[in-house]
Amino acid sequence: MRHTVLTGDRPTGLLHLGHYFGTLANRVKLQHEHTMYVLVADYQVITDRDLPGEIQQHITGLLLDYLAVGLDPAKVTIFQHSAIPELNQLLLPFLSLVSMAELSRNPTVKDEIAHSRQKAVSGLMFTYPVHQAADILFCKGTLVPVGKDQGPHVEVTRLVARRFNERYAPVFPVPELLLGEAPVLRGLDGGKMSKSRGNAIPLSATADETAALIRRARTDADRLITFDEDNRPEVAGLLTLAGLCLGRSPAEIADEIGYGGAAELKKTVTEAVNEFLAPIRRRRAEISEADARDVLRAGNTRARERAVATLDEVRDAMGF
Ligand code: ATP
Ligand code: MG
Repeated sequence: MRHTVLTGDRPTGLLHLGHYFGTLANRVKLQHEHTMYVLVADYQVITDRDLPGEIQQHITGLLLDYLAVGLDPAKVTIFQHSAIPELNQLLLPFLSLVSMAELSRNPTVKDEIAHSRQKAVSGLMFTYPVHQAADILFCKGTLVPVGKDQGPHVEVTRLVARRFNERYAPVFPVPELLLGEAPVLRGLDGGKMSKSRGNAIPLSATADETAALIRRARTDADRLITFDEDNRPEVAGLLTLAGLCLGRSPAEIADEIGYGGAAELKKTVTEAVNEFLAPIRRRRAEISEADARDVLRAGNTRARERAVATLDEVRDAMGF
């Protein structure tokens, strides 16, 4: 079966290893066999902050990260929210399909409110999972490779698709979620690695920056290194990171470190991460920002055509 794959990221900072093992690796794999759209979710930046900030710089950074990990612009349509007004028009009927209660109990929205930089919770924060339904359904997406935090959102999309089909006409597929090797990679403080929580290792960090970040990572006082997700989340996070980069099991790496303590653990992780990131950094340095911008422009044009066609179908189905 040929899927239509849709996924994306907010331009809020540099992509990190959580993105890589949560979703980017799957994208790179899937791009060869399936139709793929990758969204630069620029409007979503203002869900949890007052201003878009250094948005152009972040968009360029995101594009460079995409190309550096191996997304091929000949195969993938990379586009941005703000270039596709039809997405916002899809949002309107879609919002009518979900209840306030359904929006309010979304666990990921609750978590993001807890980490928000705004004093008051905006309407956009509550409704962005529905905006995401528009992102996924505009291209009739069938597969969504994302991290575990996106699970509740993909559920909203499935709900919107089913309800639209029942209420009006069978226009939309009901998409499936695809988790990566690390559904929630931990950051250097033991919590979910996130661009905006200061606990991430960016894909574009230099070897020295990476070493410095890992040196500051939180660990515990027990010299014997063991892999114990429940009781030692920080140590387990670092072992998982090394395991993913080396393609080995974290428990085995823990056994090898034994009584080496946090210092030995951090040395192992630093070497593993730096070796893993070396080719990605090399490729990133070879791509020009102007070329990356051209990729986005071309993608915007393609995505817009798709969105116009779907919006026409939606209007027809609704009798407008
Ligand atoms: P922000 O802090 O601005 O929300 P983020 O680091 O959470 O940034 P997003 O742009 O929200 O990144 O997420 C982009 C994609 O990467 C989503 O599919 C998300 O599930 C995935 N992702 C983000 N962080 C992780 C992680 N730590 N582990 C696995 N997947 C992740
Ligand atoms: Mg996020």
